[in-house]
Amino acid sequence: MDRTKRIASLLSDVLGSGKVFTDRDILLSYSTDETSDLSHMPDILVRAETAEDVSRAMSVCNENLFPVIPRGAGSGVTGGAVPVSGGLVLSLEKMKRIIEIDRENMVAVVEPGVITGDLQREALSEGLMYPPDPASLDICSIGGNVAEIAGGPRAVKYGTTRDYVLGLEIVLPDGSIISTGGKFVKNATGYNLTGILLGSEGTLAVITKIYLRLIPAPLHTLDLLVSFDSIESAIESVFRILKARIVPSTIEFMEEDAIKLANGFLKGAFPFPEARAHLLIQLDGKSEDQVNEDLALVAEILGSGEERIVVAQSGAQREKLWKARRSIREAIHEESPVFLAEDCVVPRSMIPRFLVEVKGYLNGLGLRSVMFGHAGDGNVHMDVLKGGMDYDQWTGIIPGLKREIYGRAISLGGTITGEHGIGYIRREYLGMALSEAELALIKRIKQAFDPNGILNPGKIFQ
Ligand SMILES: Cc1cc2nc3c(=O)[nH]c(=O)nc-3n(C[C@H](O)[C@H](O)[C@H](O)COP(=O)(O)OP(=O)(O)OC[C@H]3O[C@@H](n4cnc5c(N)ncnc54)[C@H](O)[C@@H]3O)c2cc1C
Repeated sequence: MDRTKRIASLLSDVLGSGKVFTDRDILLSYSTDETSDLSHMPDILVRAETAEDVSRAMSVCNENLFPVIPRGAGSGVTGGAVPVSGGLVLSLEKMKRIIEIDRENMVAVVEPGVITGDLQREALSEGLMYPPDPASLDICSIGGNVAEIAGGPRAVKYGTTRDYVLGLEIVLPDGSIISTGGKFVKNATGYNLTGILLGSEGTLAVITKIYLRLIPAPLHTLDLLVSFDSIESAIESVFRILKARIVPSTIEFMEEDAIKLANGFLKGAFPFPEARAHLLIQLDGKSEDQVNEDLALVAEILGSGEERIVVAQSGAQREKLWKARRSIREAIHEESPVFLAEDCVVPRSMIPRFLVEVKGYLNGLGLRSVMFGHAGDGNVHMDVLKGGMDYDQWTGIIPGLKREIYGRAISLGGTITGEHGIGYIRREYLGMALSEAELALIKRIKQAFDPNGILNPGKIFQ
């Protein structure tokens, strides 16, 4: 019996029927995530239903030194869930119970496969809010969000997934199940294991339960779109708004190429298609009066005529504005199915310089790029389109492009990824962002959790 068949048979023995798959057709759907131009077939798929399933599967794989690639909803964009050198994909998609929304403690207890948007809606029905809002919220899972430290537009006011995880239940490679926290907010008991698991991208342990902090939901929100003549004036306005002690729940920016692409894709969704830059701002608060006061102040700060500001007057109008923002990635994909997607982060004061420098560099190479992102937190999404370029030429220029873009972000005081992670596609560039001592330390952490190196090999590290 070959090795894969033997392991699959051992797994079926410990997990029972209906959880272990080796059919090619089924495996094919687990050979990709949302990363452009990356796929590899797994050898085995396990769909775990409980932490005990995960524990049993991990024990078998650890004893047989068989690679395990944890997978949430497969919406990652850095290849984290792709089995780049085969092995077992351990899918958590069936573990999707919202175990509890505890109103007194304002805590949600969830399994990792819960879709982020489902948790948000469930919390809201109890008057509570789970703020992290990746644009992929209807297609990604909380487990993947924790493993990647997902962020979203609301990070400027509410932070990212990092700020809401109170504790985890995890399964270590040897199959032991441990807990790193619970329904309590403070915890000074030993090392912060929860913190180490955040952003671990499936390389340290498998997350099987998550305790999440919730907050009271704001009662009123208001969305407005503002157009600008330059990216500099858009970002300058962000500083002025924040200095006036107004912290919008979102401040998204889009430069003109992003606007044009989304407009073409949605057949005219943005009201000022010729603008050089847009900010999409959301204000929220306890009362309508408070939100309207903030709006008046923001309008005064922007000092603009009303023709440059559109305030969404209805749910449909609000949806239209946000759909345009959220569809940028889809629009890029339609224009050029192969593209380079970067999400560097810089101090927000450096956004204009970073954009102008990188845009100039890419234009100089004759490459089309689209830039947008979270102006409030300095996270810049920068997608470079392959377009009609010959494929070999394209793959040949990628390493140079990445080095140039990352180098500029780092020299401006930023780093190479704000929310999408290192995964597979950035692993060889980690050394640009971390010192040798830092790299050595995180490798020792990996070794302590996973001495046999079976968890998600080829990710984060080379
Ligand atoms: C259209 C689009 C928009 C997006 N917008 C955003 C955005 O605004 N902000 C943002 O941050 N990201 C965004 N993303 C990226 C992606 O949705 C996030 O990285 C998300 O957190 C991935 O979740 P997932 O469940 O799909 O994880 P997967 O892709 O399945 O896995 C991602 C990583 O997490 C690990 N993992 C998954 N589950 C577990 C677990 N239970 N235990 C241990 N490790 C695990 C995997 O091994 C892998 O390394 C976007 C993606 C798309 C396609």
